[in-house]
Amino acid sequence: MIEVRSLVFDYPGKRALKEVSFSLRQGSITALVGPNGAGKTTLLRCLAALEEPVSGTILLDGRDILADPRATHRQIGYLSDFFGLYEELTAQQCLDYAALSHGVDPETQPDWILSCARQLEIDGKLNQKAGSLSRGQRQRLAIAQAIIHRPRLLLLDEPASGLDPESRHSLSLLFRRLQEAGMTLLVSSHILSELEEYCTDMLVLQEGRIIDNTPLVAREEQALFELRVAEALPDLENALLQLAGVEIVRVNQGSALISCSSDPARQHELLREMIAGGLRVCAFGQSKQNMQDVYLRTVQGDRQKGVR
Ligand code: ATP
Repeated sequence: MIEVRSLVFDYPGKRALKEVSFSLRQGSITALVGPNGAGKTTLLRCLAALEEPVSGTILLDGRDILADPRATHRQIGYLSDFFGLYEELTAQQCLDYAALSHGVDPETQPDWILSCARQLEIDGKLNQKAGSLSRGQRQRLAIAQAIIHRPRLLLLDEPASGLDPESRHSLSLLFRRLQEAGMTLLVSSHILSELEEYCTDMLVLQEGRIIDNTPLVAREEQALFELRVAEALPDLENALLQLAGVEIVRVNQGSALISCSSDPARQHELLREMIAGGLRVCAFGQSKQNMQDVYLRTVQGDRQKGVR
């Protein structure tokens, strides 16, 4: 859906993005993570067609986003890390303005605008000036602005910072709903435990380079499963290797992470085969990779390699 090829971006005296290449598949929610100063905000601004790179291309459905930035802005929603609100406008005026500037007529679509406000739980604040809202309420208003035109690609820079735990949870649910409605999301954050709740993929940026692009859930007909046996079994790896269609992601004597068919009927058969084969399975359920582990392994591994 989005394809980024060899993107290079410079600030005066500083190369912020170095030959960045990756793609995002439609309907995915990708976590954009990396240490402070890695280039996450710069990359999001380039994807939102707000910055012009030195070289490289960004294709949205095969079309260069810079060929017609205004058309691109209608397909993309962007939440900047400083929200970008007009303080003197009421929340309603902010939403109407965002809608109009993206080609949505508030006169003909008042229900949709109200629905965005409700989804972000700011419908009770519509008559209040943006400047008088709390930090969390401003953040929610800015997210409502970013989705007001039903973008196909939503770019969010630190969307959960400043939100209380309940609002963070509602935000996770909202992101899942948007994904189910067909939207593709790229979310930059340092809060890995939250990203893990809803992200399908992870993109790790360090010193302006992509150092990892990992799926967090198995693709298409495959799913990741966590398996535990009732007592340690030195031969667990071999036992699992005997099973058709099973790939081992990691294994120790008491548990394993495996990739196998996402078809429930095949999972049932697999469980029967394992038990019939003598494995004392005590837990078998769908899993996601632990993002924190993958992230730390990647970033520390890359530092050890001394990549600059
Ligand atoms: P953080 O996690 O701290 O928000 P980030 O990954 O979003 O960081 P960027 O804000 O994209 O990182 O910055 C990437 C690099 O570019 C940093 O080294 C930063 O100092 C530099 N940089 C960012 N904005 C400018 C600017 N306007 N002028 C010069 N250098 C800049």
